[in-house]
This record gives sequence, structure tokens and C-alpha cells, in this order.
Amino acid sequence: MQNYDVIVLGAGINGCGIAEKFASDGKHVLLLDKNGVGQGTSSKSSRLIHGGLRYLETGQLHLVHESLRDRKRLVEKYPELIEYKRFFLPIYKSSPRPGWMIRLGLWMYDLLSGTRSAGKSHREDIDDFHKRFPAFVEQELRSVLSYVDAKTHDRELTRRVADDFQNLTGSVIVHCDVQNIAWDSTGFILYSSAGNFRAPVLVNATGPWIDEVNEKYSFPANFQLRKVSGIHLIFDGLVVPELMFMQTRERRVFFIIPEPESNQTLIGTTEREEHESMDLLNAKEADIQYLLDQINAYLKPDHQFQREDVRDIYIGVRPLVRKKGAMSDVSREYKLDLHTKGDTKLLHIFGGKLTTYLSLAEKVIKVLRIG
Ligand SMILES: Cc1cc2nc3c(=O)[nH]c(=O)nc-3n(C[C@H](O)[C@H](O)[C@H](O)COP(=O)(O)OP(=O)(O)OC[C@H]3O[C@@H](n4cnc5c(N)ncnc54)[C@H](O)[C@@H]3O)c2cc1C
Repeated sequence: MQNYDVIVLGAGINGCGIAEKFASDGKHVLLLDKNGVGQGTSSKSSRLIHGGLRYLETGQLHLVHESLRDRKRLVEKYPELIEYKRFFLPIYKSSPRPGWMIRLGLWMYDLLSGTRSAGKSHREDIDDFHKRFPAFVEQELRSVLSYVDAKTHDRELTRRVADDFQNLTGSVIVHCDVQNIAWDSTGFILYSSAGNFRAPVLVNATGPWIDEVNEKYSFPANFQLRKVSGIHLIFDGLVVPELMFMQTRERRVFFIIPEPESNQTLIGTTEREEHESMDLLNAKEADIQYLLDQINAYLKPDHQFQREDVRDIYIGVRPLVRKKGAMSDVSREYKLDLHTKGDTKLLHIFGGKLTTYLSLAEKVIKVLRIG
């Protein structure tokens, strides 16, 4: 039996961030995953370190503010992995939101960013846009705005945080099947394919698997997830020269993200409520066609994409949090759910974006207060 101060279950961005934070405070930490590091949602995102411009519309100012603060810290911490980029936002006559509303949103976004180094939003020259984005239809384009957010590579970032944790003498065990977890007021014992481990504190950072994990180990929990999947399509070549924030007629949004490092372009994402087990999920043809239709609505006839142009597809699940038993009241903000038996502490991490992992890890340390 090996003893630790803390065991973290789940090596996505949140589990890695929490493990690293505890290790940097001198704690003896074990990080376990049933797959590899960053193989879950943390490699299925839009790869943005962003405040979430569209959350302003639903009044989630706290989330946007915290995310923008973390964005600044992350760009400074990992400049080789996270870079500020300008996003182009064309506004057509058919745009579901008027130009003034988007300009107001961008003004607030600039204000909440509070950093000059990132750069401010502004109006782009339309003729220049037509020259640089020749595939886009020209009729009925009213204006083009641009703003700044940050871009990363999600799995590389997660692996980097795991490497930082290991450099602090933290232990990572991947492809580990935890068969059973026993807990009482003296601590947890994890019985796994890699051996048995004991700790007084267990952090459950299994992302969108959390409900399945809680059921498997009969853990108490005050929250549940609403699992909403999103897919991304990958195309060969750089479809556009800059990142783009696009609107659909139904007021949804999607991104076009050129990745010069791989000479590919990502387009995503979608929203679909999922009820299947996490390990059985697949991208649906209807969602693939939906994204093709959305992008094609903006492209000239000789630049349209066909199904066979799609080089690859990936699917991830957003862990949206709801109070146990409640069907509505879903939030994109994360919740820390603490359960104790004597000095033994079980903490569930419900939700949490890639962007906010630093703040989340800091809050976890405060909530657990390990001496
Ligand atoms: C389509 C989409 C786009 C997104 N885009 C962005 C974006 O651009 N920017 C942003 O900030 N956020 C974005 N997000 C959100 C972000 O990607 C996730 O919220 C974040 O990656 C969740 O990280 P996590 O560590 O909580 O979960 P995960 O990365 O899913 O990690 C959970 C880990 O737990 C492991 N696990 C599961 N069960 C067990 C078990 N029984 N035992 C051991 N290990 C287990 C899994 O293998 C997995 O590695 C997006 C999400 C989606 C779905």
C-alpha cells in the first residue's frame, strides 16, 4: 500500500492543474487516469483560452471576468503554448444580432480584459477583408469587426501541466483501472490495476465522466451534469488567414480556426444533449452536415465544402452543471462539492473550462485546507 496526501482522479486539465498546485505546495500527490493524460475533453475543445464573448449575452459576467483574468495569467505562464490572436467577425445583413449590439459586447469584453498588451477590438476595412478572405460572399456584408482572444493546443497544454507536476516529484499513473474505492473516517483506499493507494483526500476531477464515476463508487454528490456534446471538423489547408467568430441564423456561434503548425483548419462547434455513456459517444452525421451548411452559407459557390473534404472529426462533452434533481438551472460555472467523513475529504469538481483551470485549482486548495 502506497500512501499519499492527496489522490486526484482524472488527468484532464483540471486534474493536472489541481495536482500541480498541491505539489507546488509540497504535498505528496498521485494523479490517476483510466486513459492517457489529456485524452478526455481536454483534447476535444476549440483550443481557445478565452473569456467567452457569447457568455456576455447571457449575463455571465463573473465567468467572463474570471476567464479573462486567467487568460492573461496563462499567456504569461506558457507563452510558447498560448498566444493572443485577432478574431474576425463579419456582420452580414442577415446577422441575427445588430452591429451596435456586437460593438457594445466587444467594448465590454475589452473593458473586462483590462490588458493593453492583448490589443483592443476595432472595425476592419471591408475592401481589405474581401482581399484577404476571397472565399467569402461579398453581397450584404455590412461591416467586419475584430477582437483579441488567445489560442492554444489543448492536449499539449494539459501534458505540459502534467509534466510540470511530475517535475515537482508528483506521480502520474495512466491506463489505470480503479476497481474499487473504500472510504471511512480514516481515509480512502483505492484498489486498482496499478496497485493499492491510500490518502485522506480524494479529488474527483473526472470531467464529464463524473456522474458515472459517482455511481460506480457510490459517492454522494450534490450536483449532476447535463452532458452537451460538441464536434469539430478538421480540413486540410488554411481555409482562412485569421481566426473567425461566426454567427448562425439561429443566434448560435461557431469558430473557424486556422492552425498553421499543422496546415489544417478546425470548424466548430455544435450542441447536442447526450444520454449515452461517455465511452460510447460518436459524432452524428446530422451535426457534421449542420456545420458544413453553416460554413457554406458564407462561402462563394466555387469555395463550398463537401462531406468528403472533412479530413477528421472529434467530439467532446461540455460538463454543464445542475443541482441534483433539477432539470433546468444549468450553469457553465464550475462547482466544488465537498463531502467529509471525520478528517477524510472527498471533493468533486463539476465543470470548469480549459481557460479557468488555474483559478479552479487555487479554489480547490482553499476549500480543502490540508495542513
Ligand atoms: C466542444 C467543446 C469545446 C470547448 N472549447 C473550449 C475552449 O475553446 N476553451 C475552453 O476554455 N474550454 C473549452 N471547452 C471546455 C473544456 O474543454 C472542458 O471543460 C475541460 O477540458 C474539462 O477538463 P476536465 O479536466 O474537467 O475533464 P477531462 O479533460 O474530460 O478529463 C477527465 C479525465 O477523467 C478521466 N476519467 C474518467 N473516468 C475515470 C475513472 N473512472 N478513473 C480514472 N480516470 C477517469 C478521463 O479519462 C479524462 O482524462 C470545450 C468543451 C467542448 C466539449
